[in-house]
Amino acid sequence: MKHFGLSIWGDDNFIIDNDTIKINHASKPSLLQLTQEIREKGYKGPLLLRFPHLIEKQISTLFKTFRKAKREFNYQGDFHAVFPLKVNQFPNFVNSLMDVSADYNYGLEAGSKAELIIAMSKTPLGAPITVNGFKDKEMIALCFIAAKMGHNITVTIEGIGELETIVEVNDEFNKETANPVAPKIGMRIRLHSSGIGIWAKSGGYSSKFGLTSTELLEAYEILKEHTLLKNLWMIHFHIGSQMGDIAPLKKALREAGNIYADLKNRGATALSAINIGGGLAVEYSQHGSAQERNYSLSEFANDVVYLMQEIAKRKGVDEPDIFTESGRYIAASHSVLVAPVLELFSQEYNEKCLRLKEKNPPLIQELFDLYNTIKRTNAREYLHDALDHMESLLTLFDLGYIDLEDRSNTEILVNLIIKKAIALLKNESTDELKKLQDRIQEKYLVNFSAFQSLPDFWGLAQHFPIMPLSHLDSKPSNPASIWDITCDSDGEIGFNRELPLYLHDIDLSKEEYFIGFFLTGAYQEVLGMKHNLFTHPTEAVIRFDEEGSYHIEHIIEAQNLMDVLDDLDYDTGIIDKALKQKIEESHLISDEEKREILGKIYLYLSENSYLKTIQALRDKRMHV
Ligand SMILES: *Cc1c(COP(=O)(O)O)cnc(C)c1O
Repeated sequence: MKHFGLSIWGDDNFIIDNDTIKINHASKPSLLQLTQEIREKGYKGPLLLRFPHLIEKQISTLFKTFRKAKREFNYQGDFHAVFPLKVNQFPNFVNSLMDVSADYNYGLEAGSKAELIIAMSKTPLGAPITVNGFKDKEMIALCFIAAKMGHNITVTIEGIGELETIVEVNDEFNKETANPVAPKIGMRIRLHSSGIGIWAKSGGYSSKFGLTSTELLEAYEILKEHTLLKNLWMIHFHIGSQMGDIAPLKKALREAGNIYADLKNRGATALSAINIGGGLAVEYSQHGSAQERNYSLSEFANDVVYLMQEIAKRKGVDEPDIFTESGRYIAASHSVLVAPVLELFSQEYNEKCLRLKEKNPPLIQELFDLYNTIKRTNAREYLHDALDHMESLLTLFDLGYIDLEDRSNTEILVNLIIKKAIALLKNESTDELKKLQDRIQEKYLVNFSAFQSLPDFWGLAQHFPIMPLSHLDSKPSNPASIWDITCDSDGEIGFNRELPLYLHDIDLSKEEYFIGFFLTGAYQEVLGMKHNLFTHPTEAVIRFDEEGSYHIEHIIEAQNLMDVLDDLDYDTGIIDKALKQKIEESHLISDEEKREILGKIYLYLSENSYLKTIQALRDKRMHV
């Protein structure tokens, strides 16, 4: 896996220069440099770095690619896009998104009342807002209010019941007025075809959402009866997220296109848009053999434009405007989670830790000799001998013939021999050697929570690219598994022989080592859970100015301990009082000590719950 698969997932967003990974933009700061600058301001624990220029890149690529496809096919409909807020509602993201998309008439998609409020307040007038998902009367009323503000808003009907509520709300809002204003109406269709992959449940016949053919016809009649047919202008579908294969999209496009044309020919003359939802996939893989996407954005855009044109031509209707609601594609690349390694867990298997005696049991002496004389030509044989000796030595320990020191020496020596053998035989990647890597893997304890920051890894086994921010000029040698700091054994990204991750052998008492987790910008943040009460990491926006210099802005620190408890609706006043009282009433400490302890506990309460980097290192850094 050369350069951690950067050429597969990196999309030219980063470059490796000497030993570090840099942002491939403007002044090209390294991720390490940004991390250290933020830590020097006093922020500890994991950091989420956001890069608005990468949001802009995705939006402009999306628009450029569709415009090119439209030109190639001489397509008459327009292209529009909205961002589905459920993918990332965090203010630092949404504000950046609105900033960088100003030139594209880019809008927002909302699936709940709270998201709708974000959309109504952040979308510029004229840019599209689409509203999907289940809606009650209040939510539909909010759509009418948005329309009356002058918003270009489309409410998508997911079921006949909603349509009846729309008719009701329309009466309430518009009966008495000379100038009736209502949102535009879209209809979500229940696809016959469904998406594929782990997120595919949004499309297909058993989907939660959308109208069947019978319901579409029924809805048409209801709209006609209430003179709302003039508002029906969009057909909507969404086949599910992270669509790895293009085939289901093509099927869905044919289905939706024909529904659009038939309803238009039936008399829905205002109908003029197809909304193809989201689903555009992101390449998360670090390994060529496990790529997740079998199409390019151009292929995707060409298919959409070509199929819509073909259907429109065949059925004699105008080519519809095309809307997309791609979220993952827009947001995933914009953020990088950076977390410090706190400890390496097999460092006890180190030559320094050997406690060899004057006189060792013969098998241990032999292991020591094997270790010192192993070379390329005898590596396989010595390896087998070492494994064999280990079995015997462990049996001797169980029977009481050798002691704990001997056993420790055995484990260390065998580990060292395996490591050496693997290094010597690295050109012959046999099954046996692959299996042995599991034995010598190094556990990297990393200061982050997988539950908070990579929930899709925990819930869906989604892989995210992982690489260190330094030492990139040398080949990493340790088969690595990553432990987070929660007390949950699921918080581990285990070493996978088929898709191996190797990290560097680092002496953490001498230097820091940071791990970057990439493509975390879509879904991970709001799905993240506070397992063990680890909160959203400290975040910062990295903005580049016209001259190309970068600015670290909008830092939001991870919540402090009391705020976390407050979020769970604890009465923090009572907690505060109880702590104070218990210290003051303790018979175990002097008054002077009490004051000191109170000072300490208040300091701790004001800090976030992630771990601090070890003290020795911090002291050392103060001097450099
Ligand atoms: C979730 C969702 C999207 C976004 O899907 P991505 O795969 O993130 O592009 C778009 N439209 C609707 C209706 C959705 O529910």
